[in-house]
Amino acid sequence: MRIAFAEIAQETDSFSPIIAERTDFEAYGLYFGNEILERMRGVGPIGGFLDVAADQADGVSLMPIVRAWGGAGGTIAAETLDFLIARFVDGLKRSLPLDGVFLSLHGAAASANEDDVEGHVLRATREVVGSAVPIVVALDHHANITLQMVRCADALVGHETQPHDPPATGRKAARLLFRMLRGEIRPTLRWQKIPMIAPQDQFLTSAGPMKEWFDLARAMELRKGVLDVSPYPMQPWLDVAEGGWAVVVHTDNDPELAQAVAVEMANKAWSLREYFWRSERVPPADAVRQAVEAKSGLMILSDTGDSVYGGAPGDSTCILRAMLEQKISCNALVPMIDPGAVHEASAAGVGAKITIDLGGKFDNIFNQPVRVTGTVAAVSDGFTVDLHDRGVCALRRTALLQVGSVYIALLDHRSFAVNHPVLYTHLGLEMADAKMVIVKTASNFQFFGRWRKGLIRVDSPGTTQSDLTAFAWKHLPRPIYPLDPISDWQA
Ligand SMILES: [Zn+2]
Repeated sequence: MRIAFAEIAQETDSFSPIIAERTDFEAYGLYFGNEILERMRGVGPIGGFLDVAADQADGVSLMPIVRAWGGAGGTIAAETLDFLIARFVDGLKRSLPLDGVFLSLHGAAASANEDDVEGHVLRATREVVGSAVPIVVALDHHANITLQMVRCADALVGHETQPHDPPATGRKAARLLFRMLRGEIRPTLRWQKIPMIAPQDQFLTSAGPMKEWFDLARAMELRKGVLDVSPYPMQPWLDVAEGGWAVVVHTDNDPELAQAVAVEMANKAWSLREYFWRSERVPPADAVRQAVEAKSGLMILSDTGDSVYGGAPGDSTCILRAMLEQKISCNALVPMIDPGAVHEASAAGVGAKITIDLGGKFDNIFNQPVRVTGTVAAVSDGFTVDLHDRGVCALRRTALLQVGSVYIALLDHRSFAVNHPVLYTHLGLEMADAKMVIVKTASNFQFFGRWRKGLIRVDSPGTTQSDLTAFAWKHLPRPIYPLDPISDWQA
């Protein structure tokens, strides 16, 4: 069996002012050919696929093409996507003839001239391999499912959990592919778009309406003939023509069953729509006050409007401003992506006192810089973090600025480590000494789990803010809940 595999994945925040370029993919490791086999064992959906491929009794010839993971960021530059697709198509052609294709895509990527990147990749794949070769895709469940994707893929398998377990999704999709290739199953796909969007406040699958919806998917997979049920609550900052939630169902050659399950799943999400919009978020000043008043242990301040994991720039200042205005006296950890500040702090050197205008530079619509005077407490010239199943990430140059009891970790780029304790420990801080930490995510608090005592969702403005009604939507199909009144929708 000859199987080509590739990863072309990025999560686009349409409202972010930063354009994603080739360097954003290189920061996470842009690999071609056999280097993918060396680097991706155990990492992401590709790692999961490789595990399952290794378990096959009959010989599998692996044809690695490209691994391009860009994290979350702004719209992808046209020439960057063109470059990736050209390399991918070229590699695919050179690996013909093929028995199957495994792709790891995000599902919510948009470039400057292509608002359905995954549909584009899948159409290119289908054009090269022809109609008979199975194409199975592992997706992030925050994907936006489009007609082009459904037409060109045999299976679109999404994550089962938030926070995600990317290798598990890779294994689930890979098992479908190998069962297809052995002739054990004939997957039939049916899908249903759901005219709604929702903020990230209820996106965790461990509780609330998302748990209810995803639990239903798992229950339906127990029905005879159902192979996979993938709910897709689209990430809420993707302003594209086919945007909105969806569900994709795969059965073993039973289109009616697939259709029935898709309808039931879609109607379930619709029935929970108001619940998906419930929120416990509080204004920045109240959030800081609550964190100060909390008894002991680490309080997580989720900067929902500036989620780097959702594609935001990571330089919002509203929570930091509240800390400084309230002159807090307990230790607070603050990440700030500001290359100019990193440069100034490291040029001044450890022990120097500096006054700088911090943050609010990339995103100057929702945020403004805040002037701080502090002492440079540490400088690092580069640090490589092994994030295990999320791969390796280079922190590059960082600096620590101390303003009273507020410790600001300055980064020169949007690193995945922005929400990881190593950002602070590699600069000499002890996590156990901190009373609060700002995280640039609304869901991925797991790296701080060991110290976490509480979580406060901050209603911070920004390009990933929960108030989706405040964005200037240009492309989203209308009507859509809750931007428009829809009274009688049914799948
Ligand atoms: Zn996701």
